[in-house]
Amino acid sequence: MTPPKDRCPNFNHGRANVPVRFCSMCGEVVNKNISSQVCSEEEHAIRRRDRNKYCVDCGEQLIQ
Ligand SMILES: [Zn+2]
Ligand SMILES: [Zn+2]
Repeated sequence: MTPPKDRCPNFNHGRANVPVRFCSMCGEVVNKNISSQVCSEEEHAIRRRDRNKYCVDCGEQLIQ
């Protein structure tokens, strides 16, 4: 169902205990034991400034 995609270079994928639910580069779940958060616009604005493409707490795409 999902199209084949390039391997994400983010180091979170190879780790056992990642402190965040979503990968900031591809938006994939890297730790399903952490529950998804509801973020405020301010938090997303900060993440955009950090150049995160996806929010690590809710998985939303921040940068097009
Ligand atoms: Zn990734
Ligand atoms: Zn978020």
